[in-house]
Amino acid sequence: MRKLAAGNWKMNGTAAALAEVQALLAAHPAPACDMLLCPPATLMSRMADLARGTALRIGGQDCHAAASGAHTGDIAAAMLVDAGASHVILGHSERRADHGETDSLVNAKAVAALVAGLIAVICVGETEAERDAGTTLDVIGTQLAGSVPDAATPDTVVIAYEPVWAIGTGRTPTLSEIAEVHGFLRARLTARFGQAAAGMRLLYGGSVKPSNAAEIFAVPHVDGALVGGASLKAADFGAIVAAL
Ligand code: PGA
Repeated sequence: MRKLAAGNWKMNGTAAALAEVQALLAAHPAPACDMLLCPPATLMSRMADLARGTALRIGGQDCHAAASGAHTGDIAAAMLVDAGASHVILGHSERRADHGETDSLVNAKAVAALVAGLIAVICVGETEAERDAGTTLDVIGTQLAGSVPDAATPDTVVIAYEPVWAIGTGRTPTLSEIAEVHGFLRARLTARFGQAAAGMRLLYGGSVKPSNAAEIFAVPHVDGALVGGASLKAADFGAIVAAL
């Protein structure tokens, strides 16, 4: 399976930051993995213009579960497509924490994304308290079962394991902890989706950087990365792309 290097710019970047995209494309015109950047919505069209005809794909960071309507400040999946997106991140722990997103809401958003033709990058991950309490696999199993729609296929859904305590902290799980969770995700997906689960990409996210990317990517069932801070700079993201 082709691996995926996905960058999540979060609430960062104005027009000046597009120079990083140009630098990334110049340095990696034909990467060995799929390359995705998810900018803030305000930059999406302009980034998509830069990406046209290149290996770079563009994604949103959220979408609404409804197709349109009276939802001030929200963005529908079809609007992301219209702006040039092929993917959308859903259920990121910051959305779960800041906006109270539940598994069932994430599931409904994923259904809306699939209907619009987007690939949903669905995030799961435990908090530090949950890991300390030994409930990591229970938490992730519940999130996975609730957030991933029945219609998921290898072509329409990507799962990202992001321990909440590893996001933006510089701390990462051990390689064996990552292996345990990714093996668990594959087993759960296989139990639910059968053979198709073998083709579903499982990303690791949380403090991925050039210095740890290669060892994380060598872990079984790690099919790529969801990168926050290190995706903002072409040199850093490019180095992660090159490690895949
Ligand atoms: P980070 O964020 O790489 O800055 O830790 C990852 C994420 O939240 O997707």
